[in-house]
Amino acid sequence: MSGNVGSVDVLIVGAGPAGSAAAVHAAEAGHEVLLLDAASFPRDKTCGDGLTPRAVHQLGKLGLAEAVTSDYHNKGLKLHGFGGSVTAPWPEGHYGTRGSAMPRTEFDHLLVRTAVARGATLWEDATATGVQFAGSRVDVVTVRHGGVEKQVRPRWLLVADGVRSTFGKLLGRQWHRGEVYGIAARSYCTSAMSQEPWIHSHVELRDTDGTVQPGYGWIFPLGDGRVNLGAGALSTDSRPAKVNTKRLLSHYAAQRRAEWGLGPEQDIASALLPMGGAVSNVAGANWLLIGDAAALVNPLNGEGIDYGMESAEMAVDLLRPGRDLTLVWPHVLRETYGEAFLLARTAARLLTYPRFLPLVGPLGLRGPVGAAIMPAATRLMGNLITDEDRDLIARAWRTAGSAVSRMRRDTPLWATAA
Ligand SMILES: Cc1cc2nc3c(=O)[nH]c(=O)nc-3n(C[C@H](O)[C@H](O)[C@H](O)COP(=O)(O)OP(=O)(O)OC[C@H]3O[C@@H](n4cnc5c(N)ncnc54)[C@H](O)[C@@H]3O)c2cc1C
Repeated sequence: MSGNVGSVDVLIVGAGPAGSAAAVHAAEAGHEVLLLDAASFPRDKTCGDGLTPRAVHQLGKLGLAEAVTSDYHNKGLKLHGFGGSVTAPWPEGHYGTRGSAMPRTEFDHLLVRTAVARGATLWEDATATGVQFAGSRVDVVTVRHGGVEKQVRPRWLLVADGVRSTFGKLLGRQWHRGEVYGIAARSYCTSAMSQEPWIHSHVELRDTDGTVQPGYGWIFPLGDGRVNLGAGALSTDSRPAKVNTKRLLSHYAAQRRAEWGLGPEQDIASALLPMGGAVSNVAGANWLLIGDAAALVNPLNGEGIDYGMESAEMAVDLLRPGRDLTLVWPHVLRETYGEAFLLARTAARLLTYPRFLPLVGPLGLRGPVGAAIMPAATRLMGNLITDEDRDLIARAWRTAGSAVSRMRRDTPLWATAA
């Protein structure tokens, strides 16, 4: 790029998993790519660090599956609460049976390095601060790079600026807070069980008086002498979770300390998780939002790394001369995730009713009923079902998805302003 305004084929704002994966796919498709991030790498990102088989499958397309599973991998989920525990191995099928977990400081650095190695140009300490339109096209993006203001004219603009999507808001992105969202905190603890090959989740958290707290806890072993330990709750504006997630996390850590040989909680950080496509205005003529910016987080398990990387691949596939992305992108998102996210959002909404989990929890987690239904539930929670799956559970899930979509036509999933 030269002169006052430099031109580039594909400008990507944000170099988290969505942005870096997009940069890899776009560079491999032969585009000239400029990837920028407000931070410098390695940088931390508040996260549970968990990678389901769906994420590992997508990492395979970037040539990184081995890099994230060779030192440590996990076999599935152990769910605890209401007097019971259920072990649910990752299901056989399209995505494989290997999950993993890697601290985001390392994981995101690995992805960003891969993008550069495949040919993308990276600007760190580079914040996209402004935008000029030419009709419905983004014409010029203003970037503050190392304290210097620069202008970039992109042919296509992919916005992967994460959960707050400050830059996306300049393009009209709107988050619907009336839909279910998550609030969660994570920490790192040393642990004698860092190599444990199962991720663990506790859905019944009690305070010192024995009162059930709204929320859940997780322990994701990292295989490096530590675990990622966190706590979160689901919320809506009308039923806000009245919970201090950092306090809940410390309480949860104290309960699990002896069993897991836990050291003190370190680097505690909390964040919001808009979920299930609860945003509008995710595309214009030559730009679109991917990853968290498009609320691509599974409402039932809070994972978004895989959807970030998948949306990156789908977005790059759409970059063809003369194509207007305004309606195409929301359509692709709805076709790919619409039914699953709508169903998950509806189920997650039930969990925001304080009495729901204590009522169904004992049934799901105790005895033969729990043992029979929970492996299937894990498959549904992880959205580990594909169109190729033809078994009973896959068919039942899809039927329920279509029914809920028909009932809730008003729900704004990636709506476009008129
Ligand atoms: C507590 C918690 C636990 C979670 N646990 C899991 C989990 O275990 N597994 C899972 O799959 N998901 C989990 N998630 C969700 C996951 O963290 C996100 O879905 C994922 O990070 C989305 O990736 P992204 O690339 O869209 O955004 P991000 O990873 O947030 O990256 C966005 C990037 O954009 C940059 N940026 C922002 N604004 C600008 C700007 N104007 N200019 C330039 N750069 C900018 C930021 O610096 C950042 O690097 C969790 C989330 C939370 C909050």
